[in-house]
Amino acid sequence: MIPKDRWGVHETHCCIIDGCKYGDKDCPVVLGLIRQKYFCESCRDDYYYISYGSQEYFDMEDKVWLKIDKKIKKVKNETRIKKLNRILK
Ligand SMILES: [Zn+2]
Ligand SMILES: [Zn+2]
Repeated sequence: MIPKDRWGVHETHCCIIDGCKYGDKDCPVVLGLIRQKYFCESCRDDYYYISYGSQEYFDMEDKVWLKIDKKIKKVKNETRIKKLNRILK
């Protein structure tokens, strides 16, 4: 497990959808332990045509964050199920 005082770099650079920027398997963002601060370049890639700061841009941001929050929920569920399975074995 990555020590908590090193979580900050992950929080600002990693993405639960696109993965850890440092290739860490224990990335707290990827594991759903913390919510990333920003969405990454790849998340933005689908919306490359939208210019920064426009109303469309803010709508796009909402959409991306919704996607990220959904994924966080899914990962947390999976983690819970994995833990349960371990207990039941
Ligand atoms: Zn990471
Ligand atoms: Zn991303």
